[in-house]
Amino acid sequence: MTGGAESFVDLRSDTVTRPTPGMRRAMADAEVGDDVYAEDPTVRALEERTAELFGHEAALFVPSGTMGNQIGMRLVCEPGQEVLCDADAHVVTYEMGAAAAVFGISTRTVVSAGGRLDAQALIDQVRPKDNWHLTATAAVAVENTHNRGGGLVQPIEELRTLWNWSRGADVAVHLDGARIWNAHAASGVPLSTYGALADTASVCFSKGLGTPIGSVLVASAERIAAARLWRKRLGGGMRQVGVIAAACRYALDHNLGRLPEDHEHARQLATRLGVDPSTVQTNMVVLDGVEAPLIAEAAKAQGVLVSQVSPRRIRLVTHLDVDRAGIDRAADVLAKLLAL
Ligand SMILES: *Cc1c(COP(=O)(O)O)cnc(C)c1O
Repeated sequence: MTGGAESFVDLRSDTVTRPTPGMRRAMADAEVGDDVYAEDPTVRALEERTAELFGHEAALFVPSGTMGNQIGMRLVCEPGQEVLCDADAHVVTYEMGAAAAVFGISTRTVVSAGGRLDAQALIDQVRPKDNWHLTATAAVAVENTHNRGGGLVQPIEELRTLWNWSRGADVAVHLDGARIWNAHAASGVPLSTYGALADTASVCFSKGLGTPIGSVLVASAERIAAARLWRKRLGGGMRQVGVIAAACRYALDHNLGRLPEDHEHARQLATRLGVDPSTVQTNMVVLDGVEAPLIAEAAKAQGVLVSQVSPRRIRLVTHLDVDRAGIDRAADVLAKLLAL
């Protein structure tokens, strides 16, 4: 292991995970080619495998979840049309206004209860495509698990309601599945079921699955052919990137199955910190009503890194770089600070 972070228990995000020795070996041994020519065998294998996991025809490897989401939404929404989503969604909170800045896509947000999908509330806001006065709603974007919702798993009935309605309404569904793996691990719902309830889906390997980079967009073959052009246009065409795709394949083999351990660690943290563990569905613990800057600073001084979501909210994220001993250490430090 390299880097100077060993002395810290880093609970800021699951993006801080570093490639393990086994993953690095897989990267070093990867067979590669020029992926802009679609000639990297490792990338192609990853794309095929991911498409199959989610029950879609095709897939495209992209550098980030942001690019996966933005291209995914562009595939199902024309400039001047709108994507409807939750007010706290990653696609409108953390993607730098890309839908508007890059694609001329309008977004309209609906406030939800902590990120929980309420299909009917969204359906009620959808605007028709053939009206002379209204901005047409081309798509709805759903986030699962929900990041700002504290790792909330979207209820499968709500996803089904939205999907079934969308088929008769000519409205597409985009899934921001950056952490769909965690939703799957927590709910037991097959990845293919989540895939079957979306027209386009972006999934990340750089979060809980522990790779340094990498996301995959899945959709129909026709849409993925268009996505390949968008990726190049945005500067996301990569060459011998099988070295990264190999890490993603390794992650599916070795890290997907261990996500329940992260979820267990999150529940343990919650219990130690007086948070109702039943509110912890996946790998995040939210501490609400706390002096976030003060606690974050004091925790850092004692070797524990946390993230401040707002001045009164702290988020802790468990992941494969924090073992049980690290969880105990973080719990000791934070429990004392919260009792002050
Ligand atoms: C991390 C994340 C993304 C993608 O972020 P990138 O940093 O662009 O890879 C997308 N959606 C959600 C919900 C995320 O948490």
